[in-house]
Amino acid sequence: MATLFSTHPPLAKRLQIILHLAHADMDAITAHIAKGQKTRSRQETSEAGPRIMAQRDDQWLGPFTLLQLQTLEWLRPETRLKIAGRQETFAAQEIPALSYFFEIKDDSVWKIRRMCPACHEWLLPQEYEGLYVWRCAYCGGILAQKGKLPRIFVREEKGFTEKVQRTASLIRKESKLKHPHFNITLETPGRRHCPKCGKAMRHKFYSYAFHVEIDECPECGIIWFDADELEILQCLIEMEAD
Ligand SMILES: [Zn+2]
Ligand SMILES: [Zn+2]
Repeated sequence: MATLFSTHPPLAKRLQIILHLAHADMDAITAHIAKGQKTRSRQETSEAGPRIMAQRDDQWLGPFTLLQLQTLEWLRPETRLKIAGRQETFAAQEIPALSYFFEIKDDSVWKIRRMCPACHEWLLPQEYEGLYVWRCAYCGGILAQKGKLPRIFVREEKGFTEKVQRTASLIRKESKLKHPHFNITLETPGRRHCPKCGKAMRHKFYSYAFHVEIDECPECGIIWFDADELEILQCLIEMEAD
């Protein structure tokens, strides 16, 4: 336990920044600290981080990842936590990543509450190239305002996982074979609803050029990307630019 979270707050703050840049989540970073290894991709580490139990009214709930803990409305600095399968408990604020979360959770962007259209858990605001997107700590999906996407696409660091690159190449190959007047709207069993205005979202390809499946709200222009889809889209755009 002590070795897992023995970093001090300034480092946690730096890690939080690195985390936003690297698109990794806190699990990957914690695994990195714990093992002293090179940080692996999100897919590889999503199950590898510490599984944390949280105490609420004398009941142990969970396990949760560090990101998932941040979606719990009842989580307080003094909430007791423990690693799943371990005995010793500690206060939430003893974990640098969480004490940093308690510091920033009153910032205005955290007051905007958005719920995941897929799993109905609270989304977490994350800074991404100087603007905010909302990410689901459970399914890995991302909510973003359409008009702001071009700024997200202009990013310097390229670090796509092999899986993202493979999927992007496949989509690219298939899109070249499509009829120029193909239907951009896709069939939608079980429609998703806009986390901002509640209207039914349209399941469609991102654009005629980039065939990544997204859900778009026709009312407020908000877009939902399932896990990896935003990165696949970024990868496709970079492929075209090369
Ligand atoms: Zn979700
Ligand atoms: Zn909407």
